[in-house]
Amino acid sequence: MAAFGTKFTGKMILGTYQDGHWSDLELVPVAPFSLHPATHVLHYASECFEGLKAYRTDSGEVHLFRPDRHVARMLNSAAQLLLPIPDGDTLTRALHMAVAAVKDEIPAYPGALYLRPTLFGTEEDIGAAARPTQKAIFYVLTSPVGDYFAGGLKPLRVKVDDQAQRSTPNFGEVKTGGNYAAAMRQVVRAREELGADQVLFAPGGIVQETGAANFVLIEGDELLTKPLDGSILPGVTRDSILTLAADAGLKVTERDFTVEELLRRAPNGEAALTGTAAVLTPVGELLYNGDTIQVGDGQMGPWSSRLREQLCAIQSGEADDPHGWRV
Ligand code: PMP
Repeated sequence: MAAFGTKFTGKMILGTYQDGHWSDLELVPVAPFSLHPATHVLHYASECFEGLKAYRTDSGEVHLFRPDRHVARMLNSAAQLLLPIPDGDTLTRALHMAVAAVKDEIPAYPGALYLRPTLFGTEEDIGAAARPTQKAIFYVLTSPVGDYFAGGLKPLRVKVDDQAQRSTPNFGEVKTGGNYAAAMRQVVRAREELGADQVLFAPGGIVQETGAANFVLIEGDELLTKPLDGSILPGVTRDSILTLAADAGLKVTERDFTVEELLRRAPNGEAALTGTAAVLTPVGELLYNGDTIQVGDGQMGPWSSRLREQLCAIQSGEADDPHGWRV
């Protein structure tokens, strides 16, 4: 199977905005866009996107996982970027159209169809630093993906960085390319210098999230994670794991915590990343200021295994769906 995010279906859903209104959604072949060199997004990064999956269950049924949450997050991203966006019902319909158009190309679980709804500003205006775009394109690209963990689920080495920021304080909840651009250099450097898989951003010593996933610490009977205060992405997987953790009797605490608390508690506990691609991936080692701190015994802990299995069973259709997440 091709690397995640490099193979696409041949069809996408497209809508365009100009003169104050959105065109009808269309199913079109995936093809390059022709953009004027002055296009808004190329200069002012007026873009946001989402990432979610449709799964095919053993019985052949196809479902989206919590599309309502992704639609809500995209509406918020667009609002904060002053980007025009279709209404929530239209976005939801676009997701369903995108899945229906390529239903036969959805791999069986643990494969899935990854959906990438994207919105960007197309006004031809390079004087537009303080003028929001009045033209935009919305599309839903789809990509059949294999088992993300085909090579086995290996606990990650994560660099803890108490200096670097992946976003500005209130913009972390916006799923926009600029935030990924800011994080990329840190993640690549940590990989090259330390062999780290990811960076846990903790500017000012407060633990936030990694470059592409949220972060949870589990110790004793408590699951601890940063609250949604605008500085981190409100992960749909984060919310799902917190819900399953509470159902299972863990005490779920959403509060700020420091690198010092993390490093003190992690050796007796578990830590994990959560995200659409990662599902729940254990952290085996934290790398901080030249030290390597092992998390628990360095392997996937019992709570991480249990929560991951429960979420996977809901996504695969193997288990009931008590919270109505499959649509
Ligand atoms: N944080 C960041 C920065 C991410 O890119 C992602 C992946 N979308 C997440 C968290 C996890 O979000 P979700 O569980 O909705 O995929």
